[in-house]
Amino acid sequence: MNLKIGGEGLNKKCAVISICVLGLLIILLLAILIIDNKSYKKVGTVAYGDSLLNGKNSVKIIRDKNGNINIEENDIFKKYIITLPSKISDVPYKQKMSYLELNFDKNVSLKLNSEVKSTSLKDLYLTTDNGKYNLIIRTKYKSNNFVYINNQKNNNEVVILVSKVKKPFKYKAVLNAGHGGIDPGQSVGNIHEKDITLKIVKLMRGDLQYSGIDVVLTRDKDEGQALNDIAAFVNKNKPDVFMSIHLNGMEKNPNNYQGIGAYYYDENGFQKDERIKLANIVLKHTVHKDGWKDDGVIRDRLRVLRLSKYPCVLVETGFLTNDSDRARLLDDKILGNLASNLSDAIVEFVSKK
Ligand SMILES: [Zn+2]
Repeated sequence: MNLKIGGEGLNKKCAVISICVLGLLIILLLAILIIDNKSYKKVGTVAYGDSLLNGKNSVKIIRDKNGNINIEENDIFKKYIITLPSKISDVPYKQKMSYLELNFDKNVSLKLNSEVKSTSLKDLYLTTDNGKYNLIIRTKYKSNNFVYINNQKNNNEVVILVSKVKKPFKYKAVLNAGHGGIDPGQSVGNIHEKDITLKIVKLMRGDLQYSGIDVVLTRDKDEGQALNDIAAFVNKNKPDVFMSIHLNGMEKNPNNYQGIGAYYYDENGFQKDERIKLANIVLKHTVHKDGWKDDGVIRDRLRVLRLSKYPCVLVETGFLTNDSDRARLLDDKILGNLASNLSDAIVEFVSKK
């Protein structure tokens, strides 16, 4: 008897618990639906694959032969290059569930270059919101999409990489912008080595990623780093290649010294052939372009090279103390070329490994 009552009581309890759990599940499901709707609200239909061009807040992207939005792609990334006529300090952006949203001021004109294939249009939308233009770029994956703002003197380039594959990176490079913080490196007036080296590595990032090379910077802002810490950072990251960027300088007869030098070091022959090969590839891609002189491949017992367990090179990208090298380093176009030539050297080195 007791057992029976006990059994019925247990059944009732089970039923109550079941109803409660079911209720909670329904509430959870509703909550997910509401949150989901909220995150899509701003651009509404994009997430469901409809065109926004007829939507309330949408603006048609004009095609123009001088359009400032260009698109190129390879097997792993789709690259959007937006050239803005004036320097803009920041373009806020966020990665949403299925698209990237970049916020531009309304006075910025955004036109698609007419040479871009019209099939690319389906991934691109423009909406207006609170006096801003929002460029909406559809993304296939939520990760491995990148936005870079390359501040230059006369114009600004916004480069957006959208991954076409789940794992776009086959290789890894660690880049070190020499000096930083209270250590400016070479200085001529208010021009400091630490600022130019940082500019170079930042310019290299997008190029390398587009080529399938993951990029890790030892610093991405003005901060000091101990040489031992840089080497430890490199070894922790286990890259296929490590490149340290510096500028050279000479106090006496500064205009007698110029050019790009590639420094390597092998402790007791460690990775000797590989490191010399890397240094030569760097010079092959950089010197005799834009007037850069060849300062040669130099063996030097530099600490970051000595302590690195991975193939590495330290590049002195010109003499800041030399008038013509300095003019090149302060020319945005030449600096951009230099960065992409250094990136090409890394791509050649890793692909021949
Ligand atoms: Zn230096």
